[in-house]
Amino acid sequence: MITITIANQKGGVGKTTTAINVGTALAATGKRVLLIDFDPQGNASTGLGIGRGDREHSSYDLLVSDADLEDVAVPTTVPGLDVVPATQDLSGAEIELIEFDARTHRLDAAIKRHRAERWDVILVDCPPSLGLLTVNAMVAAHALLVPLQCEFFALEGLSQLLNTVERIRSRFNPGLSILGVALTMYDRRNRLTDQVSDDVRAVLGRVVFDTVIPRNVRLSEAPSHGVPALIYDHRCAGSEAYIALAREVIDRLPKLQKAA
Ligand code: ADP
Ligand code: MG
Repeated sequence: MITITIANQKGGVGKTTTAINVGTALAATGKRVLLIDFDPQGNASTGLGIGRGDREHSSYDLLVSDADLEDVAVPTTVPGLDVVPATQDLSGAEIELIEFDARTHRLDAAIKRHRAERWDVILVDCPPSLGLLTVNAMVAAHALLVPLQCEFFALEGLSQLLNTVERIRSRFNPGLSILGVALTMYDRRNRLTDQVSDDVRAVLGRVVFDTVIPRNVRLSEAPSHGVPALIYDHRCAGSEAYIALAREVIDRLPKLQKAA
């Protein structure tokens, strides 16, 4: 079981869209995938068709009540893709966790408690902050997938993210690696985004995935239908890009499995 955390403290950069569609593409290759929605906004849950009224159990229970992964995971309409939904309760969890000794390791413990290996890959969709929820998700992870929006300030904030990764490595999780950085919302009509993508590659090098996710209206429409873009319109440019990205993710998995 490999755990990949999708993190970036900026909101609206494509974390949730990446979690849903990479999760779907991995499931389509036969991997058993669990997406843990770790954002109190619950967008990944909504985007996978789990209505707010249908979230009897949630990632909050994993953190605060020692729930078992198997008891909080629910199936989605995508075969092979399960989700642990998020509820508003989760926004209070950061405060409630202060009372726990191992408050940074609550998610890690929940994943380690699960011995049945029901899933091959666990994806954790983080909230837009570097608070205790994201720290828990980084402590639990083998690797990070970082979506980076192709915009002028793309690299701003990245050093803060990388500093956090360094702290997590030195204190809690020495094996934490960066699976890759995915450029998102690329707009080929806008020359600035080309410049940004060149700059990011110059600075970060090979950690940046070759695949670039274009700005694509189908990707933004799909969540309101409660299905991944890959199901909503599997031939749109956004879906094709996520299939290619998932292929790169799969190519990078063996290294993680060796380390795990
Ligand atoms: P985050 O989880 O980082 O906050 P989201 O994945 O929720 O970001 O994306 C923010 C908004 O942008 C959502 O409305 C989403 O549907 C839309 N979106 C995400 N990726 C794309 C894209 N490549 N093209 C067009 N819209 C996108
Ligand atoms: Mg999100």
